[in-house]
Amino acid sequence: MDTAIRNILSVDVEEYFHPTEVQPSVEPGQWKLLPSRVEAETDVVLDLLGEAGVRATFFVLGWVAERQPALLRSIQAAGHEIGCHSHSHQLVYHLTPARFREDTLRAVGAIGDACGVIPRVYRAPSYSITRESMWALEILVECGFTHDSSIYPISHDRYGIKGFARHAHTLETPSGPIWEVPIATVRLPNGRIAPIGGGGYLRLLPYRYTAAGIRRLNRIENQAGCIYFHPWELDPKQPRLASGRIAQLRTYTGMNGMRRKVQRLLSEFRFGPLGASAAGAAAAG
Ligand SMILES: [Zn+2]
Repeated sequence: MDTAIRNILSVDVEEYFHPTEVQPSVEPGQWKLLPSRVEAETDVVLDLLGEAGVRATFFVLGWVAERQPALLRSIQAAGHEIGCHSHSHQLVYHLTPARFREDTLRAVGAIGDACGVIPRVYRAPSYSITRESMWALEILVECGFTHDSSIYPISHDRYGIKGFARHAHTLETPSGPIWEVPIATVRLPNGRIAPIGGGGYLRLLPYRYTAAGIRRLNRIENQAGCIYFHPWELDPKQPRLASGRIAQLRTYTGMNGMRRKVQRLLSEFRFGPLGASAAGAAAAG
């Protein structure tokens, strides 16, 4: 075992046609016409975690919960934590507060109907809680959430809050506190902050990039990292719907090696779910 620190493993459960990079190619009205792959893809992830004896947090889309309730029950039966990944995978900063509340409550209802769990942990589509949409945290508190993991403390063309506190901490909102668990970043010797938590980095870059980042975070900063990936990232046979060279590259490169990289990560580092992490347990009292 590489380190005694328990990192946080999270899986964003959505179909291959939900990612923000794919959405320009597929109207939401077409979603229900496309073949579903999420159940088979998530089963692969559940098997990998089962073999490694690792529990994680699965942030499930309400849209998936409505259509694949048995999948949520399988995730729950395997001992994992169920969180919410919105209902219809819209960027939070493109929604009004009223629309965000409506989307969140619809997802909470769908997840509850599917498996009886009222989710308390939230992850926004594409980390879209940014400086422009911080109002969303107050609405999450009002919708019953105790934890959020939607902020990436980096600058990126589509998301991120540069300079945001990099480790788990409480944020006060007018409706009460919420624990924010940012996605893992690492401070490099030159002071720069580099992203390490995302499925994309694990998939696109050599394994050692993510591994060295987690090791540095655990050993030098003495902090747990929050890592995520998507079941579709382990499915090289999915229809490739994203159009445009950059969207294709970001979405589909490296899928063949992803399964082995996830296996290696699970064997070399300690992981657990978000809500039951040390910070989470303290927050939950
Ligand atoms: Zn997503």
